[in-house]
Amino acid sequence: MGFFEAIGSVGKGASDKAKNISEANNLKRKILYEEERIVEIFTDIGKKYYKNPDSDTSELKTLCDDIDQRRRRIKKMRYELNGIRGYKICPKCDAEVNERFQFCGRCGARLPDIEDEDFLSLEPNDYYTESSNNFFNADSNQNY
Ligand SMILES: [Zn+2]
Repeated sequence: MGFFEAIGSVGKGASDKAKNISEANNLKRKILYEEERIVEIFTDIGKKYYKNPDSDTSELKTLCDDIDQRRRRIKKMRYELNGIRGYKICPKCDAEVNERFQFCGRCGARLPDIEDEDFLSLEPNDYYTESSNNFFNADSNQNY
């Protein structure tokens, strides 16, 4: 490799890294935005139902579908984000595992490839980020 080629490849590596960082920040921002929207939509559902509990529920169903769409987007963006960082998330125990591994080092579960991942399925109790799980699991009726 000649001198100028060597310089060229170093420069490329550095700009790829910068690009990854800005892409990762972009994804984080988008995930945060979707999470905030989901919280707002939940509030809307509650308000609409409170104002008119006997009304047709199809409007509420539309809002619920909107939430699921956003959750799928978050799920996909999380996989992309981990891909940029070189991680996979274990579907069984949530451990962060180096993306080169096929099995989880903590629990031994098989790790999905991003190409194989089914972004349409959603687990009812899994909201894909820790902050949203905390939100959904908090029940204002429960006072300990
Ligand atoms: Zn695991």
